[in-house]
Amino acid sequence: MIEHHVSEDLLLEYAAGALDEASSLLVATHLALCPPCRAVVSEAEAMGGVLLEGEQPEAMSEGSVNTVLERVAQSPVEPAGHEGARGRADRLDAASLPQPLRGYAADTLSRRGWRRVAPGLSQLVLGTSSGPTTARLFHLAPGTRIPVHSHRGLELTLVLQGAYQDECGTYARGDVAQLDESVTHQPIVSRSSVCVTLAVTQAPLRFRSLAVRMIQPLLGL
Ligand code: ZN
Ligand code: ZN
Repeated sequence: MIEHHVSEDLLLEYAAGALDEASSLLVATHLALCPPCRAVVSEAEAMGGVLLEGEQPEAMSEGSVNTVLERVAQSPVEPAGHEGARGRADRLDAASLPQPLRGYAADTLSRRGWRRVAPGLSQLVLGTSSGPTTARLFHLAPGTRIPVHSHRGLELTLVLQGAYQDECGTYARGDVAQLDESVTHQPIVSRSSVCVTLAVTQAPLRFRSLAVRMIQPLLGL
């Protein structure tokens, strides 16, 4: 049961084709797992069509919206719990990911592998053309603690497998955390299984620890 959804503002921007590619990818992946949010987007689409009648056809980027909606429509809703707790990032199978992510993950994996950032934490930066906004998969070992940090701009995190907890709550498969500069948190992965997330950040994180800040350029976070 998904408890944390994409905000309505972001869903509407998505429906209007106004989001960058990395954020659109995250929203599309959430939609593949979340029928209620799919319904909101469909409604926004229908409303948008009515409002735009009689306007210049160029007013809306119909191509991108239709492409994403087609992708969402084709996305099978996967049964919960079919994914096993795999111990290693390099064994993550792109085919086990929700449909909108598969092409991006397979494409990236054909060119480079997962990069180990720290003990228990690997990342795969996906090839999206969104300027400073980055989409990446994180593979976190059970019990991993991310250092306390805040953000510069929006941080969107979608859980694909396993779960983590922070000051804002517990996040499991399908849940989205939508955080900004005002939030400082420390995500801690559940001890019972590996956690895989899709994270979209507009800028590098702001770590509290001086030691982490010093090695941050090497971490690439
Ligand atoms: Zn939702
Ligand atoms: Zn964060």
